[in-house]
Amino acid sequence: MQQKTEWLELESLLGGACATFDTLASYLQLGGKCKTCRHIVPIDRHALARRFGRDRPLAGLEPKLKCTACDRRGDSVFVVAKLPR
Ligand SMILES: [Zn+2]
Repeated sequence: MQQKTEWLELESLLGGACATFDTLASYLQLGGKCKTCRHIVPIDRHALARRFGRDRPLAGLEPKLKCTACDRRGDSVFVVAKLPR
């Protein structure tokens, strides 16, 4: 049986809106969730950190997220999931 990934909205975590790549626990998988179509896509946090800086607040990057399912930009939020061990 395949285990379903459980995504949590970043805001529900400690640090929420002011979390940065640096303060985001390393065992968390970062993802983007589209508020329009509910599509969730995993995001390479290391690539983003290199591009925008490790101390950049994640909330400030949300307007840059683009949904890969419906092509809508700026209507996504960050979500996180615990990586399987
Ligand atoms: Zn979408």
